[in-house]
Amino acid sequence: MRKVMLTGDRPTGKLHVGHYVGSLRRRVELQNTGDFDDIFIMIADAQALTDNADNPEKVRQNIIEVALDYLACGLDPEKSTLFIQSQVPELCELSFYYMNLVTVSRLQRNPTVKAEIQMRNFEASIPVGFFTYPISQAADITAFKATTVPVGEDQMPMLEQTKEIVHKFNSVYGETLVDPKILLPDNEACMRLPGIDGKAKMSKSLNNCIYLSEEPEEIKKKVFSMFTDPTHIRIEDPGRLEGNTVFTYLDAFCRPEYFPEFLPEYKDLDELKAHYKRGGLGDMKVKRFLNNVLQAELEPIRNRRKEFQKNIPAIYDILKKGSEKAEAVAAETLRDVKAAMKINYFDDLELIKGQAEKFSE
Ligand code: ATP
Ligand code: MG
Repeated sequence: MRKVMLTGDRPTGKLHVGHYVGSLRRRVELQNTGDFDDIFIMIADAQALTDNADNPEKVRQNIIEVALDYLACGLDPEKSTLFIQSQVPELCELSFYYMNLVTVSRLQRNPTVKAEIQMRNFEASIPVGFFTYPISQAADITAFKATTVPVGEDQMPMLEQTKEIVHKFNSVYGETLVDPKILLPDNEACMRLPGIDGKAKMSKSLNNCIYLSEEPEEIKKKVFSMFTDPTHIRIEDPGRLEGNTVFTYLDAFCRPEYFPEFLPEYKDLDELKAHYKRGGLGDMKVKRFLNNVLQAELEPIRNRRKEFQKNIPAIYDILKKGSEKAEAVAAETLRDVKAAMKINYFDDLELIKGQAEKFSE
């Protein structure tokens, strides 16, 4: 079977380190294995409009920001198709037919959507488009016959919904759609990276992010303001690792080679953690180390971004070509879907002949 990867991001802001460890870093690694027959990376502008209908300019402005972040992280348009969701109208048509296969109560049970509705104070007036975005996500995934979807933990309910639609569609209309697999980060800290305030999830909407394009001074300021263990007051106090954002970030970003480079008195992260738990290790020292780690991780990304920023029209061109390729692939799937659903009247010569015979009797 062909191996196809699909994933994407909403253009509601620049991408942050949560996106990076949750999905982006993995995509680039997978891209570079050469194992995939096709890779589609989608800028989900239509989805972003479901909760930003009154602010299209925000979505429009952030398309290029997300594309720059992609290229800066190493997504390569020669190997991965980068495209814009709204430029592939077939996705809307697929969503429309999938809507018949999902109940309102099933959508109401989606825990991620529930949490997002609460966060946006939508309780009394949920836009229908927002409410149904898990269905549109199923269209995005199935349109490209994706087998692998690398995403953060918050996307699990979307993948479950997609799989249900695939199974339902295939059982009602015959084997047509491909069943996708979710690929979660293998490191617990990366599943749902907390914000610098220690809140559940780093999120553009919560203003608790470190952006991939952040300047060194800003990164340092954010690291030094980070939430740690509020009961760890004096250096000699024993410290807690659970819920300690600085250690969560070290779990997500630290590589073995950073110890000899920045903190040679410790062998590895386990030794550093043990010392913190025992007491005698101050927050400032750990924060200085984390700052060095993040600076080392983000500097090459920031520098590559600055290079790409020099030729913005070329990036729109990449997105245009990518969108054209994506549309061609989605159109093929839509043809299969319509044939399976028996709404391909004009292509079905048997139908026309059969009807002609029926009326000539
Ligand atoms: P918004 O607030 O507009 O929903 P977001 O920050 O949640 O934006 P999305 O575009 O919804 O970002 O998510 C893009 C991808 O990044 C998804 O695969 C999602 O799982 C992943 N992701 C987002 N935030 C995090 C995080 N804090 N930790 C791990 N993965 C994340
Ligand atoms: Mg989100």
